[in-house]
Amino acid sequence: MNCQVCKNPINTTGFYQELKERLEKAGICHSCDIWLAHWKQRNDDNVLRISGNHYIIVKDGTGLELTVRRNGKLQTVSAWHQGLIPEVFRNALPDNAQYARRIGVA
Ligand SMILES: [Zn+2]
Repeated sequence: MNCQVCKNPINTTGFYQELKERLEKAGICHSCDIWLAHWKQRNDDNVLRISGNHYIIVKDGTGLELTVRRNGKLQTVSAWHQGLIPEVFRNALPDNAQYARRIGVA
């Protein structure tokens, strides 16, 4: 069976039963399942998409420190990086911020 979203084969080998059944029923691969979940949160304030990369801002300081420009404002945040958004999701998950130089760094 191939994924309905990205057309790659769906490989559920080694997945726990509940996940395996859910993916097979939906006809999507694990990667697309994850990116669909990000798509559902696409308008959340804690989501940053920069140059095709996906980040979720965390409040506990455990993430990567990033200085970004969003809606014309600079902000420094702590964010987890989910990786590069797959090509098939790029149009659905457009950039909503830009990288900015760290304040104080030439
Ligand atoms: Zn897929």
